[in-house]
Amino acid sequence: MNSPRIAVSGLVRRVDGVDRTGVNSEYVAAVLAAGGMPLVLSPLIGAARAADALDGCDGLLLTGGADIDPARYAAAPSPALESVEPRRDEFELALLAAARTRRMPVFAICRGLQLVNVAAGGTLWQDLPTERPGPVAHRQAAPPAEPTHTVRVAPGSRTAELLGTGPLRVNSTHHQAVRALGAGLVETAWAEDGVVEALESDDAGEWLVAVQWHPERGSAGAADRALFSAFVAAAAATVQASSPSPR
Ligand code: MN
Repeated sequence: MNSPRIAVSGLVRRVDGVDRTGVNSEYVAAVLAAGGMPLVLSPLIGAARAADALDGCDGLLLTGGADIDPARYAAAPSPALESVEPRRDEFELALLAAARTRRMPVFAICRGLQLVNVAAGGTLWQDLPTERPGPVAHRQAAPPAEPTHTVRVAPGSRTAELLGTGPLRVNSTHHQAVRALGAGLVETAWAEDGVVEALESDDAGEWLVAVQWHPERGSAGAADRALFSAFVAAAAATVQASSPSPR
């Protein structure tokens, strides 16, 4: 049996004086561990060819990274806004739109969750410490894989089917978060301070799950593996539903 092919959104980063394109290896390793075939898509492909790039793919993983340009949600940049990558924003928004049109399973992590919200017309806190201060350090000082805060999960949600209702211990390396929720989305998990930690589609027939923590780092153990396994299984089910003959 062929593995479901998972498009993994990539980035461009200058390292040792050379522009390189790829993605953090933890995402690729997590898709492999769940039985998927990861295919990294570079933002160099461009928004106009994003839909073509998804041809032959069965699922879309939107990865973490830089802040989303606040112009995307009609906000002026906060003084605490960090680096933005407009080319990546544009490419990933086009990938997401094409994937949702095709009913392709989408799993979104950290920046990916924020992108899903912005694509649906939602807005973001550009910097939690200055705009929405609270007791939880969402940009943890601890090593990035270490769980540092808890989340509770909404009963009855797809997220709860995968993770239970918690409280679940997760890592946290973000300074932005959902402010106003976009249309067609449901909040499904929150930190102790009420910051949104997971979203999903309000359409039970659509597999769109987004988390604000980093399950690819494996810090929540079985729960993190459950997210990747369910995503890859949903992608596999899409292959079977759309393929009249075995490939
Ligand atoms: Mn957090």
